Amino acid sequence: MGNNSASSTATNLTVTPSQAQIDAQVSAFLERAKEEFESKYTQPPKQTAKLEDFKLQRTVGTGSFGRVMIVQRGNQALALKVMEKQTIVKLKQVEHTVSEKRILQAIKFPFLVNLVYSFKDNSHLYIALEFASGGEMFTHLRSVGKYPEDQARFYAAQVTLAFEYLHYLNILYRDLKPENILFAADGYLKITDFGFAKVVRDRTYTLCGTPEYIAPEIILSRGYNKSVDYWALGVLIYEMAAGFPPFYADQPIQIYEKIVQGKFKFPSHFSADLKDLIRNLLQTDLTKRYGNLKNGTKDIKYQKWFATANWIAIFEKRVKPMHVPKADRDHFEKYDEKPLLNTATELYPSEFENF
Ligand code: AMP
Repeated sequence: MGNNSASSTATNLTVTPSQAQIDAQVSAFLERAKEEFESKYTQPPKQTAKLEDFKLQRTVGTGSFGRVMIVQRGNQALALKVMEKQTIVKLKQVEHTVSEKRILQAIKFPFLVNLVYSFKDNSHLYIALEFASGGEMFTHLRSVGKYPEDQARFYAAQVTLAFEYLHYLNILYRDLKPENILFAADGYLKITDFGFAKVVRDRTYTLCGTPEYIAPEIILSRGYNKSVDYWALGVLIYEMAAGFPPFYADQPIQIYEKIVQGKFKFPSHFSADLKDLIRNLLQTDLTKRYGNLKNGTKDIKYQKWFATANWIAIFEKRVKPMHVPKADRDHFEKYDEKPLLNTATELYPSEFENF
C-alpha cells in the first residue's frame, strides 16, 4: 500500500488508508481474481481423483439428485457431493450440473466453498469440496431464534463480499438461503451449492431459486442479472435479524404474490439503519435496488448499518466470530445410508462429456 502523506506523521507510523486507497486495492484484487478465474474457467481439468481414493464416512445432506457425504483422503476431511446422472437427466439439469463444476473449480474466495477434486464414474458425478464442519446456518439460526444485529451484520458482510467477487466475474449465484450457508470450523461462512450458478454477461430468464428468496423480476419472467442476488441478500438479512423471512405463506403462489407486491413488515426491534438497508435491497424497482446501481456493492458497504463493519478485517478474517461451532459436536442431521451402485457401462457419456 502506498504512503499517504495526509495521514502519516513523524510520530504516527501506522498509516490509515484512505477510502480511495481501499477502493483501489479492492479493484486490483478483483481484477487479478477475474484473470485467474478466466484462465481456469476456459481450461477445466477432468478426473482429478477417483472414488477409491476416499474413505466414505456418512451422509450429511441430500439434494434433489444425490447426496453429500463426509469422506476422508489421508488426514483431510472433505464433503463429497455425489450426483446420479440418471436423475440429473430426468430433471433436465445437465447444463446446470456441468456449469456448477466448471464454475466451482475456477473460483477461489474465503467465504465460498472450495472445490478440491472432481470426477465421474459410469453412474455418478462427484465434486469433492472442502468440508465445512460447523453445519448449516439454517439449523443454527432455528436453534437460536434470531441473530443480534451485530452478528447478522458480520454474516451479511461476508455474503456481500462473496457476491461482489462473483458478480465481478459475471457469475450469478441464484440460490442464497440459510440452508446453503455453512459454518467453517473457525466461525466464518462458506457458501455452498453452485447448482444454479451461471456465467451471465447479459441477462437470463430461467425460473430458479427457493420461493421465499426469489426476486420479483424472476417471478415476472423479466430478463434479469445480478439484481436477483441482492434481493436474496435483503431476504437473508431480514431472516437473520428477525428469525423468519419477510415474505411468508403456506403455498408458493401466495409467497410470489407478496413478493411481486413488495409488501412486508418489519419487526419492531429492527434498527432504523437496518430497515433502510433492507428497503433498498427488497426494492422492486431495479433502477433503485442497492447492489444493482452504478456504484455496485459500494451502496451496500457504505450504507449506515454497515458503518461499524471493517470490510478489510472481515475479508482477512481478523474479526472474532460471534459463534464458533463446537469442535466435538456433529452439526449435521442423520440420513439413511445407501450403497453407491455403479452400472457396468457408462451412462450418458455425451451429456456429461464436459464434466
Ligand atoms: P448441496 O446439494 O450442495 O446443497 O448440499 C446439500 C447439503 O449438504 C448442504 O445443505 C449441507 O448440509 C451439506 N454440504 C454441502 N456442501 C458441504 C460442505 N462443503 N461441507 C459440509 N457440508 C456440506
